[in-house]
Amino acid sequence: MATKITDECINCGACEPECPNTAIYEGGVEWELDGVKYPPLSNDYYYIVPEKCTECVGFYDEEQCAAVCPVDCCIPDPDRPETEEVLIERAKRLHPDIEFGDNFPSRFRK
Ligand code: SF4
Ligand code: SF4
Repeated sequence: MATKITDECINCGACEPECPNTAIYEGGVEWELDGVKYPPLSNDYYYIVPEKCTECVGFYDEEQCAAVCPVDCCIPDPDRPETEEVLIERAKRLHPDIEFGDNFPSRFRK
């Protein structure tokens, strides 16, 4: 499942630079994919774009936003269950220039 940020976010900004997929945006800021911009998903708190979040699959064995968040408000979104296969395919689509191979880091393999 994609990770989501709850309304407990204190807007510290620590998570945004840690995301390997640029899936995290400050509240009120447009998000971007393939050169197209979209309206912000939140105007009040940092937010995660589900279409860009891989739960860090392909890059790390744990969610980097959750690892740095001081108030533990980056959590798995129960409304968006996704398999490792779906998430690594997303990572490949987002990063066509990266060769992930078979032994990519994944929270499913810890
Ligand atoms: S779980 Fe990983 S990919 Fe998803 S938003 Fe957090 S840092 Fe980015
Ligand atoms: S690290 Fe946590 S509190 Fe800070 S902006 Fe990100 S989600 Fe909000």
